[in-house]
Amino acid sequence: MQKPEELSRLRQAVSREVRQRTLLERELFRGQTFDNAPLVWQRRRCGKAGCRCQDGQGHGPYLYRVKLTEGKRHLEYVPGPEVAAACQARQAYEEHQRKLAEYQNLNREIEQHFAALSSSLVNQRGRA
Ligand SMILES: [Zn+2]
Repeated sequence: MQKPEELSRLRQAVSREVRQRTLLERELFRGQTFDNAPLVWQRRRCGKAGCRCQDGQGHGPYLYRVKLTEGKRHLEYVPGPEVAAACQARQAYEEHQRKLAEYQNLNREIEQHFAALSSSLVNQRGRA
C-alpha cells in the first residue's frame, strides 16, 4: 500500500517521463537520414620511388568509410570536399543511437512507474 505522497510522486514522475518521451520521439523521427558506416583516418604510402612518404608516416591522413560488402570489410575513400558532411552524417547517427537508448530507458521507467501506480490502486480498492 502506497502513501498518498508516494502516489503523487509516481504520477508526477510518469507525466514528466511521458512529456520527455514525446520530445524524444520528435527528435528521433524527424526524417533525417544517417550514415552508419564507421569512419577511420589513415595514412598511405604512394609507392613512388624516392617519395618522402617511404621513410615517413605516409601521406594524409585521409578519411575512409568502413564498409561491409558480402561480409568483407573494405575502406571507401572519402574525398576532401565530402569530409565534413561524412563526419556530420556519422555523428548524427551516433546521436540517434544515443537518443534511441535514452528512449528505451524512458519506456522501461514509465512501465515500472505505471505498474507501481496500478498495483497501489488495486490495493486501495481491495481495502474498501
Ligand atoms: Zn608518397
